[in-house]
Amino acid sequence: MTDDAPLILWFRRDLRLADNPVVTAAAESGRPVIPVFVHDDVAANTPAAPRWRWGLGVERFAAALEEMGSRLVLRAGPAAEVLAALAGETGAADVWWSRLYDADARERDDDVSDALGKDGIGAKAWPGHLLFEPWTVQTKSGGPYKVYTPMWNSVRDRDVPTPEAAPKSLRAPETWPESDALADWTMGAAMDRGAAVVAPHLVIGEAAARGRLETFVAERMEDYDRMRDRPGVEGTSGLSENLTYGEVGPRTVWHAALAGRDLDELGKGAGTFVKEIVWREFAYHLLHHFPALPEKSWRAGWERFPWREDNEDAEAWRRGRTGMPFVDAAMREMHVTGRMHNRARMIVASYLTKHLMTHWRIGHDFFVSHLVDWDVANNALGWQWAAGCGPDASPYFRVFNPESQLEKFDPKGAYAGRWIAEGQEEPPEKALAFYEAVPRSWDLSPEDDYPDPIVGASEGRERALEAYKARDF
Ligand code: FAD
Repeated sequence: MTDDAPLILWFRRDLRLADNPVVTAAAESGRPVIPVFVHDDVAANTPAAPRWRWGLGVERFAAALEEMGSRLVLRAGPAAEVLAALAGETGAADVWWSRLYDADARERDDDVSDALGKDGIGAKAWPGHLLFEPWTVQTKSGGPYKVYTPMWNSVRDRDVPTPEAAPKSLRAPETWPESDALADWTMGAAMDRGAAVVAPHLVIGEAAARGRLETFVAERMEDYDRMRDRPGVEGTSGLSENLTYGEVGPRTVWHAALAGRDLDELGKGAGTFVKEIVWREFAYHLLHHFPALPEKSWRAGWERFPWREDNEDAEAWRRGRTGMPFVDAAMREMHVTGRMHNRARMIVASYLTKHLMTHWRIGHDFFVSHLVDWDVANNALGWQWAAGCGPDASPYFRVFNPESQLEKFDPKGAYAGRWIAEGQEEPPEKALAFYEAVPRSWDLSPEDDYPDPIVGASEGRERALEAYKARDF
C-alpha cells in the first residue's frame, strides 16, 4: 500500500460529513477518497417507507458530496463482491465504514472484511452511530444493562467527544469509477401513491437535520419535559428521522443540548431530552448483546404466550378503524407523515398487544414498513417494552387505557381532531390526506360512520388480565 492509494468510504446509515469519524479520518489521511453506497440485500430487503426515505437521503448526500468536489459512487450487488471489485478496479488499498449493530449488518460486515482480507485490502469499521460503543458500557458483573436508570447513571459522567466539523474537501481520485443512477434502483417503488402524501412531511439531509436540531434547541427544548407527551403539540425534536439515516450524529445532538453546560446545570427540558438520547443508546446496546431483539421476546417465557396471530381486529388497527380515537388518530398520523408521536406509539402498541391480544411482532413489522424513521433498535425495544416482554418493559399487567390517556394528553382534542375525519363537517386537510395515503382497495371515505370500538377500554383490559393470569411462566 502507498499513502496515495485510494481509500473507499462505504456509506450506509451515516449520510453526513460532520461528526462522522470515518469522514474526518479519510480527509486527514490526504489520500484520494472514493465514497460509495451499495444497494445490496440489506437495502433491497428494507421495507417500503424506510427504503424510500433512505434513497432520498442518499440522493441528498450525493449532492452534498458533489458540492465539495467529490461524488457518491452507486453500485448494486452483494456488498462483499461489489467492494472487492471496486477496490480492484480503482487500486484502493482500504475500505472504511461507520459501524452498525444489528445482526444483518454485522454479518454483512464480517463477509466484507473476509472478502477484502483475501485480496489483501484493509477493512476498518469506525464509531459514530452511537455515543458509546456497546462493549464499553457494562454492568459490574459484565454484560449490558437491562434496566435503563443504572445505565444512565453509569454513562452520565462520561466524556462525549466533541463532534468534528465537516471537512472542506475530500481529495478526488484521478479518475472516477462508473456509477449506477439512483433512479435505476427504485428505492421508492413500493411506496405507490403514499409517497406524494408523506413527502411534504420529510426533513431530508444533513443541512436540514442541523436546522431541525437548532430550531428545537432554540425554541422547544426548555419545555420538552412538559410538552413531549402531548401528541397534538409539536413538542419534540423530530430528529429520529435523521438519526436513523445518520444525517445527524448523536454527539452533535448531545453537545447541542448541553451547549457547554454540565448535566447538573441543565433545566428540566434539556435534562429530559439528553436522557432520551441515552434511551437510544440503551436500545442499541441491548440489540448488540441480543441480536434477536427484533424477532424474539426478550423474556423467553413470552415466546410461549398465546398471542393471536394476524386477525381482523389487527387489520382494523392497521387501517385506523378500531373505534378508539387515540389509536386511530395515531395510525392515521403514521400513514400520512410516516411518523408517529412517542406517546401514541406506546398507546397503539399497548392496544394491539393487550386489548387485541395480538402478537407484538405483527405491529412491529407494520411499523417497519410504514415508518420513515424506522430504527432497528428503537422499534424493537419500543414494541417489546409496550408488550411487556422486553427489558425494562412496562409491566405486562399495566394496560394503557386509550380513553383516559387521550383525555390526559390531548385534553382539547387537537390530536384526534387533526387526524379523524369521520363526524367532522369540515375535516382538516391532514385528516383528509389519510384517504389519499392508504390503498384504494380499503375503500375508506371521510363520509363513513366512525366505527364503534372493536373492544372497549375496560373490557379489553379485563380480557388481557385474564389471559395473563393463565400464563405458565
Ligand atoms: P424526541 O422526543 O425529540 O427524542 C430525541 C431522540 O431520542 C429521538 O429521536 C430518539 O432517537 C431518542 N428517543 C426518544 N424516545 C425514545 C425511546 N422511547 N426509545 C429510544 N429512543 C428514544 N424510535 C425511532 O427512532 N424509530 C422507531 O422505529 C421507533 N419505533 C418505536 C415503536 C414503539 C412501539 C415505541 C413505543 C417507540 C418507538 N420509537 C422509535 C421511540 C420513540 O417513539 C421515537 O424515537 C420518538 O417518537 C421520535 O420522535 P423525536 O425524534 O421527536 O423524539
